[in-house]
Amino acid sequence: MILGARAPALAVLTGSFQIRREDNQKMNRREFNIGLMVGSGAFAFHRSAFAKQPQLGVNGARLNEHLKALSEFGKNPQGGVSRVAYSEADRLGREYVTGLMLAAKLNVTVDAAGNIIGRRAGSDPRLKPILFGSHIDSVPEGGNYDGDVGSMGAIEVAQTLAENNVVTRHPIEVVIFQNEEGGLIGSAAMSGALTEKELDNVSRSGKTIREGIKFIGGDPAKLSAVKREKGSIAAYLELHIEQGGTLEAEKIDIGVVEGIVGINWWDVTIEGFANHAGTTAMNNRQDALLAAARFIEAVNRVATSVPGRQVGTVGRIQALPGAPNVIPGKVILSLELRDLDSAKIEMLYQKIRAEADQIAQASKVKFDFKEINVNIPAPTDSRIRAIIDESAKELGLTTKVMPSGAGHDAQDMARLGPVGMIFVPSIGGISHSPKEFSRPKDIENGANVLLGAVMRVDKGSV
Ligand SMILES: [Zn+2]
Repeated sequence: MILGARAPALAVLTGSFQIRREDNQKMNRREFNIGLMVGSGAFAFHRSAFAKQPQLGVNGARLNEHLKALSEFGKNPQGGVSRVAYSEADRLGREYVTGLMLAAKLNVTVDAAGNIIGRRAGSDPRLKPILFGSHIDSVPEGGNYDGDVGSMGAIEVAQTLAENNVVTRHPIEVVIFQNEEGGLIGSAAMSGALTEKELDNVSRSGKTIREGIKFIGGDPAKLSAVKREKGSIAAYLELHIEQGGTLEAEKIDIGVVEGIVGINWWDVTIEGFANHAGTTAMNNRQDALLAAARFIEAVNRVATSVPGRQVGTVGRIQALPGAPNVIPGKVILSLELRDLDSAKIEMLYQKIRAEADQIAQASKVKFDFKEINVNIPAPTDSRIRAIIDESAKELGLTTKVMPSGAGHDAQDMARLGPVGMIFVPSIGGISHSPKEFSRPKDIENGANVLLGAVMRVDKGSV
């Protein structure tokens, strides 16, 4: 962090914005104003060895107002939003966000993939940019916090820096990724992982990804220009709601994300033999659905057979021919495994395959596993985890290191450079629902931790 030349009495202490004791007498007008703001409670005090000294802090009321205003775009009767990517609501929400970014004195562009990028130069043009942001698209019937908290939080951080005339050493870029909920499309483009074939997939808006990118002001023919090289960013930081109930249940303020879990998904086909439900004796059946029931039970048993936070789910099942009076001859079901460690996912998968072999023999059916999708785990950077923890503790907030069970744009950004994620509590652990809720104070805390983390990265700790 570098401070403006007109602020000689401001010093950098552990990366935050503080006034040195000995310089307090020599305040110029701006610092005097800061003093007044501190007096009126606009700044948070930190509780370390430098107690009673002011620290740069976000405007929590403004942040929560922005969040409320954003919830108007695509709002539904249940109190949430349906703002799927490339819809009219998404387009209007993006316009609103662009206005906020301009007000935060960011230089706003839409890249060829349709990501909104607000950049501000740093004092050292040789340094790589620090990126931070999130997404504002939602799932159908979504809530007002997933993605929105991190997006509004990132803009609030940029605005706080601007209005306090803090010039960072690194360039900063606030990024609002497009279509996170439809498969991390915007961040995949930035990491170079978006394929030509994916552009023809139909999104929830009804438009193909290709049409959607055009609709929001991008140019699908120029996606190669969006791709960034590995090592081209100083860091990527993302504030997000937890989407689980751990922080609230344990009364912890801030989650320090240790990584985003890998997700492996297979379609499993079980072949039995369809036959008459009335005339085929019980000992003479090849019931694919009965085998599926045993398989589902086995998945749960294997997933809980070893310590750790791995999860295994059968979430979709189809029995054929699907008639009350016919023994099911074929079942297609999904198998999904998640963990921070791909080796553990593989180990669980092999155990499940062994169980399937036994069931196949006992039930006289055949199993076939088809891999559909693999998202490799994305660990966060240990230095950034330490920085987030330090930023939170300095504000007197409690922290817990935890995995992210949901996917995020940060996993694509992890291909480009060090990443970190900050979680704030989700009340009741509810997400992807209009009932999603995070407390205004927690959101303000999260944004302040993001601010502290950005300043520390800027100072050169990563
Ligand atoms: Zn999200």
